[in-house]
Amino acid sequence: MATLNGNSPSEAPLVIVVGAGLGGLSAAVAIALTGHYRVLVLEAASRLGEIGAGIQLSSNCSKLLIRWGCAKYLEPNVVAPHRGRVCRWQDGEILTERIMNPAAEEKFGAPYWHIHRADLHQGLLDRARQLGVELRTSTPVAKVRTGDDETSPGVILESGETLECRFVVGADGIHSKIRTTLFPGFEKPRPTGDLAYRFRVATADMLDDEILKPLAETPDTHSWWGPGKHIVGYMLRGKQMYNVITLFPDDGSLGDATRGTGTSDHLKEIYDGWCPKVTRLIEKAQESQLIKWKLMDLPPLEKWNVGRCVLLGDACHPMLPYLAQGSCSAMEDAAFLAECLKHLPDQLEIAADIYSRYRKPRATKIQMFSRDQRARNHLPDGPEQRERDAVLKNPDQQTRA
Ligand code: FAD
Repeated sequence: MATLNGNSPSEAPLVIVVGAGLGGLSAAVAIALTGHYRVLVLEAASRLGEIGAGIQLSSNCSKLLIRWGCAKYLEPNVVAPHRGRVCRWQDGEILTERIMNPAAEEKFGAPYWHIHRADLHQGLLDRARQLGVELRTSTPVAKVRTGDDETSPGVILESGETLECRFVVGADGIHSKIRTTLFPGFEKPRPTGDLAYRFRVATADMLDDEILKPLAETPDTHSWWGPGKHIVGYMLRGKQMYNVITLFPDDGSLGDATRGTGTSDHLKEIYDGWCPKVTRLIEKAQESQLIKWKLMDLPPLEKWNVGRCVLLGDACHPMLPYLAQGSCSAMEDAAFLAECLKHLPDQLEIAADIYSRYRKPRATKIQMFSRDQRARNHLPDGPEQRERDAVLKNPDQQTRA
């Protein structure tokens, strides 16, 4: 490996990233690319990977992935939708149609992508390994030490071992142990009152079905909005599969668990009376793929840093999925944090402070917009819904899609 800012790789300051999710790996790649640091990622799970199915990546995020040199790993697996349509729940009437590609490229300088989570995770992992990032699985972190004038920062593993470093990034998700160590009195994640189902349908199966054929013949995104719930569908993996996400009020079927398997009968009951495309998609859902999630939320923290330790991604700003910005925001965090570390390698505490001060307002705003979007998507039938739909149908009056 080449030298890191004049240091041999073994002498370069070490950054520990806790968590190898999409946020942690993005941070690892962006920080390794600065050329100043060695990066070690610690992951609690025994195997690296992502569960769930698709993810939508808007231009703010695809732009970073391209800048980080990940495109060659991802492009074979991405789908670039041409249009995004919002439809009415009962009759499927198209309420609005937004051009996504190539408009995203023209307007924001990068495409809008859909990708399987496993492919995105693997692409980031391949790039991280290529950059010399070290990864340790089956390594749960119990606590963090933030460092001061006398002591270095570091992490204390559940095994009791302490690893010292120059800087710690806590990217350990919504139930973050790093957050609990930094801010012990802060609130715990709480249920939002919504559940989500995710499942996939083979495109070949849809092409044989008169009702679903129109969905399978395009790379476009469709969402159907109805009272208290909605459903989104889009293509993945070279249009081989259709990814479906449904969001609806928690009916207690998961009990205290946050994740579990579900049944298509449950979904059929919830979406009874919805338009034929929705009900047919649910009929095609394969039982084995039906994963049910409880959506959790956390109020904004006052700050994301203590000493030479910062939080990133869902650990500090879990986002409801109504704007599909959770991972995208984690990647924005990673890019900005890397810039701070690159420009202030000798003032890492200040770098951490600048990162928190400048990133937090934007992420908090997106968190709040995502909450608002839930109400907008799920309006009951009646005057407010009709008013929303009239605005959606008339793009000139439209303020936010
Ligand atoms: P996580 O993915 O939770 O990763 C945390 C990692 O840390 C895990 O690997 C975990 O095992 C590890 N870990 C935890 N504790 C420890 C420990 N003590 N020691 C070591 N390792 C530890 N976002 C989008 O941008 N676009 C979308 O289309 C989109 N759709 C979504 C749909 C749904 C239904 C949901 C629920 C979310 C969606 N999101 C979307 C949000 C996105 O999934 C998350 O914001 C993102 O995955 C968070 O990544 P993260 O790395 O911060 O956290």
